[in-house]
Amino acid sequence: MFTKGETHRSRLRRLRAARRRLDADESVIVRERAQGRCESCLRYVGDALHVHHELSGNGRRGRGESALASKKRALCLECHRRQHG
Ligand SMILES: [Zn+2]
Repeated sequence: MFTKGETHRSRLRRLRAARRRLDADESVIVRERAQGRCESCLRYVGDALHVHHELSGNGRRGRGESALASKKRALCLECHRRQHG
């Protein structure tokens, strides 16, 4: 069931954009929380921080709970690499 005037394709595009927006907004919160400091090794790296999704896996990263700041961590490049083996 689609809203009148909205195609399946445009509906998917709209939902995907909203999801990305939430993920990006929550990442801003993560970076503010970290204040440039890696949340694993506590090294100060400033803008070089990566936002790591603690909940990931097939189609889960950045969706639902996974997008929330409480489920993400600001990491330096080295710690982020370590998290992903
Ligand atoms: Zn680190």
